[in-house]
Amino acid sequence: MWIDRLVRLVYPHRCLTCGKVVRGRAAFCVDCAPTAPILNDSIRLCKKCSRPTSEGHFLCRDCLVHPRYFVGCFAAALYKGRLRRAMIRFKFRNQPYLYHGFSHLILMRLAERGILPRFDFVIPAPLSKNRLAERGYNQAELLAGPVARGLKVPLVTDVIYKIKETPPQSSLPYHKRLKNLKNAFRVPDKSRVQGKTILLIDDVFTSGATANEISKTLLSAGAKEVYVAVATITQIDTPSP
Ligand SMILES: [Zn+2]
Ligand SMILES: [Zn+2]
Repeated sequence: MWIDRLVRLVYPHRCLTCGKVVRGRAAFCVDCAPTAPILNDSIRLCKKCSRPTSEGHFLCRDCLVHPRYFVGCFAAALYKGRLRRAMIRFKFRNQPYLYHGFSHLILMRLAERGILPRFDFVIPAPLSKNRLAERGYNQAELLAGPVARGLKVPLVTDVIYKIKETPPQSSLPYHKRLKNLKNAFRVPDKSRVQGKTILLIDDVFTSGATANEISKTLLSAGAKEVYVAVATITQIDTPSP
């Protein structure tokens, strides 16, 4: 679209990690690309959440221990080093324009997988009303837009809502996260999701508790299958509760 090109002239895409202007839609400049912690199928990844696993393991420890309601998760990169810092700026330091690079990473990861299920629509992980007001944008929704356009499926932002405030989850053990998230999401009109194959987009996959609870809520509202795609995933399984 011409408006996109105009915006790009004024705000060119920049490398996620060093900030240099990049060509096209690339997430990294040529200097940073070789060392970026990108995940691909040449690495041994958990078959469920796509976190790197130890030698010989089919699933990571989290996926072995906790039931997963989503069919699979596609994670584009590891949440570490300078990319982790870029994600923190994207989420917490009011730098929403970083969605370009991160959504590009998700699309590249999905393209690498080749054959994908036929998604009926893409949804972003919802934020609660208060969190959205505080931040001013839903970072998952910014990521989901280009992914939906790239996959040529609709982006839907009004089928599931976060109706409960939860404290920041990152420092909590899994069982506490789950407890906080219980009944945190709601699908007001179940007919919207019935029989649908849905791709859920989020920024960071840590323990997977959020993606799992959203998937569970969608399935219990009648969705057929839920897949997850995230820009980044933590390297290490969360410590056992
Ligand atoms: Zn760079
Ligand atoms: Zn896993």
